[in-house]
Amino acid sequence: MSSILVAEDLSAVGGISLSAAVPVLTALQYDVAALPTSLLSTHTSGYGRPAVVDLADWLPRVFQHWTQAQLNFDAALIGYVGSVELCQQLTTYLTEQPLALLVVDPVLGDLGELYSGFDQHYVEAMRQLIRHADVILPNVTEASLLTGRPYTSQPDLAATLRALATLMGPKGHAVITDAVQDDQIGCAWLDETGQVAFVGQPRLPGHYNGTGDVLAAVIAGLLGRGFSLTRSLELASQWLNLAVAETLAQHRSDPRQGIALGALLRAILTVD
Ligand code: ADP
Ligand code: MG
Repeated sequence: MSSILVAEDLSAVGGISLSAAVPVLTALQYDVAALPTSLLSTHTSGYGRPAVVDLADWLPRVFQHWTQAQLNFDAALIGYVGSVELCQQLTTYLTEQPLALLVVDPVLGDLGELYSGFDQHYVEAMRQLIRHADVILPNVTEASLLTGRPYTSQPDLAATLRALATLMGPKGHAVITDAVQDDQIGCAWLDETGQVAFVGQPRLPGHYNGTGDVLAAVIAGLLGRGFSLTRSLELASQWLNLAVAETLAQHRSDPRQGIALGALLRAILTVD
């Protein structure tokens, strides 16, 4: 049994981020250390302004305690962080850990815009964090913000991925999570020969909350279990399609709730 630290926001209602990552990583056979980077009454998409608790005072105490208790994790997955201070605290802690795998979903924005509350200082703090990552999972917007390349919804993937690679260590891999090819949505990255590789599935109608969080948890979990990057991305793409299809089939009354996880969890439990 491996251990994984997952650090991202905990939204009490909405079924995304930490609430979604924990069951996924548990199904993938990890001991999960679930570290909320902030507490929210709901996620930020469609419920109005949530009640938020910033945990910047608590996090250093957590890290101090873990260090005293000699806790080490085999892998770590970092999602939504929320402030420059927290991002720096996490970066310092993680660089002192003997991690076999660090996956960072550099949550910064979508549709060409920074999420509210973020600025260029935050982007710079995220650049410092991803220097230490083995794998980063930006969407097209985040890739543009990190590299400083102008945003377009369908960028030159080769040039963007090469620019991202310069922000990472020599063994780091950048994966764009919402790349589009024909009618498919999926992941694009550079293979060993430096060419763009893509795995995707048909794009299903609608927009769903939590797809990126679940995708990141699946990818981090599979990589930590020893699956290759290509195999991890293939399975992640298939399983996310399953989850979105299940969500659609449920004809939910509340579209704000994160994607359905039942079919995806069953698929995880049958993988070998
Ligand atoms: P987020 O914006 O939450 O970070 P992304 O847009 O990067 O999420 O999507 C992550 C993954 O979720 C995609 O690579 C794809 O596998 C799946 N996905 C997202 N939206 C759809 C959709 N409409 N139809 C099918 N799969 C989807
Ligand atoms: Mg994302």
